Amino acid sequence: MVQSSAETLLSLIDDILDFSKIEAGKFELAPISFSLRDTLSDSLKLLAVRAHTKGLELACRIPSDVPDQVRGDAGRLRQCLLNLVGNAIKFTDRGEVEVQVAVEARADTRVCLRFSVRDTGIGIPAEKCDKIFAPFEQVDASTTRRFGGTGLGLAIVTELVKLMGGRVWVESELGLGSTFHFSAWMDEDVPAVVSAHCLPLDSRSLHGLPILIVDDNSTSRAILSELLRGWNMRPETATNAEEAIAELERAAILKMPYPIVLIDAFMPGEDGYSLFRRIRQNSELQKLRVVLLASADQSSRRESGSMSEMPIAIAKPVKPSELFEAILFSFGIQAQAGPAELPVEREKVRTRALRILVAEDNPINQMVTAERLKQAGHSVLVVENGKQAIDAVRQELFDAAFLDVHMPEMDGFTALAAIRKIERGTGRHLPIIALTANAMKGDRERCLQAGFDDYVPKPIRFDDLFAVLDRLVPAQAGKIGPPPSLAPIFDRSKMVDQFDGDEALGRKMAEMFLRNCPRWLGDIRRAIEVDDAKKLHMTAHSLKGAVGHFTDAGPFQNAFLLEKIGKKGDLGLAGGALSQLEEDMDRLQESLREMLETNEVIAVG
Ligand code: ADP
Repeated sequence: MVQSSAETLLSLIDDILDFSKIEAGKFELAPISFSLRDTLSDSLKLLAVRAHTKGLELACRIPSDVPDQVRGDAGRLRQCLLNLVGNAIKFTDRGEVEVQVAVEARADTRVCLRFSVRDTGIGIPAEKCDKIFAPFEQVDASTTRRFGGTGLGLAIVTELVKLMGGRVWVESELGLGSTFHFSAWMDEDVPAVVSAHCLPLDSRSLHGLPILIVDDNSTSRAILSELLRGWNMRPETATNAEEAIAELERAAILKMPYPIVLIDAFMPGEDGYSLFRRIRQNSELQKLRVVLLASADQSSRRESGSMSEMPIAIAKPVKPSELFEAILFSFGIQAQAGPAELPVEREKVRTRALRILVAEDNPINQMVTAERLKQAGHSVLVVENGKQAIDAVRQELFDAAFLDVHMPEMDGFTALAAIRKIERGTGRHLPIIALTANAMKGDRERCLQAGFDDYVPKPIRFDDLFAVLDRLVPAQAGKIGPPPSLAPIFDRSKMVDQFDGDEALGRKMAEMFLRNCPRWLGDIRRAIEVDDAKKLHMTAHSLKGAVGHFTDAGPFQNAFLLEKIGKKGDLGLAGGALSQLEEDMDRLQESLREMLETNEVIAVG
């Protein structure tokens, strides 16, 4: 609730700021190259939960003659769509909301795209159809009370669309629904990467694939059929569970069974989950692969059945690349980008482990930022002010640093200048990102001018923060750092292997190891304190050997790193590696103790 109220407030302030920027003539577009289909699907997913909670179908249709790789202001395009689709959902109680894209005109490498958002909602009286595009205009004053809103959305869309060289208009019939259209000019781009909907190689085996679509909504059926036909598959449709079972059985009897079926999870009468269970219970349909089109909020409905009985599920509205990957995946073919991932899982995929410095005086921000970075597999050093940040940079090599601009003792700008001075002549450049609460125009420029590599406004949106990291920190960075904390810290089968299958011996060694850990760590800490490189080399080497019986992950790698640091003789980096080692060793010791507490012995093959 806190998150959602904060976001409502933020979006309101964003609206007001945008509007005043536009009014002041200070608004500029920031064109980038992007995939139109992915951007549209991602934008609509943001609103899918709201639509599905109201029982509305949300669909998106982009015919194949519409280019995918274009250059334009993706952020502002998204803003226009979110505004119109948000309104469509808000003012519709029953039926569907559909987004369509069409090519309106072409000139050289430029293309004018028309985006249409159609709803089956309350509609707008003819005399109001022009007025609503003016700021603060609503069809009637009771609108705000019933639906919320400020009357600024359409005014902003009007201005943004003008900047993109297009126009916005509406067709509506009271009580039947409205269609908002807007056009925008973009540059057509040569595709830099082949996205999944452009068909990777292994798709050829899917040519001519018969595939049954089960969906009660005719728009959805039409869109899915079009998409599948575009991939040279052979779609057939059914509108409910009964029809689907009849068609599947008919095909099976004719010895031309469907290999795969796409089922809408959310259907009136018998829903997709129940249909899925019926298919699994039907002996004729054992080999049928099932892809479920669920909505993001329906995951909680997977009430019964074990994991192995779960079909592959993707979220609606369907993103072509995800559907394609899900189909490939159901046949055991891995698409280039891997199987369809749920958004939550995407974070876990960040396996790059970076060493990151966070300088921030607010304890809540410190905790939240450090935790999120750690969850993504990075290791973090948190300091409270600019002075401490400089000290940290003197002692350790970081892959990136976040500096709060306003801190007591020494602010971010001063610390930045000092760090850049330290770097002078060394050839090093630490990516340093400013954190600031003033999300005002000019702030970004001020930060960049001062020498920050980028800027993340507060309250921090972690997608922004991770995007900045991905962009600024070179791909090869992080390899020397500690490995991802997501790797298993204790590998039981490795231990049993190490002792030739003698688990009892392994357990005895674990007990001994636990007794000796404090001494080893103490020796290492003291060696670093008195700057004794030789002693560090030796003690880290012994610890590494002992740890190696139980894991190849974090503690082993960190002990190895300390051994190398000791061997090289420059202990500048040792402090950071030690704190990471201590953290990892705590986790390893905990896992070993847990193992010793359980009596069960695992079998080794
Ligand atoms: P807000 O939604 O914040 O009130 P907008 O500028 O986005 O502001 O919309 C202005 C008004 O236009 C709305 O208050 C509503 O009366 C009308 N309107 C916009 N979209 C729709 C729609 N899809 N169906 C019916 N009325 C709409």
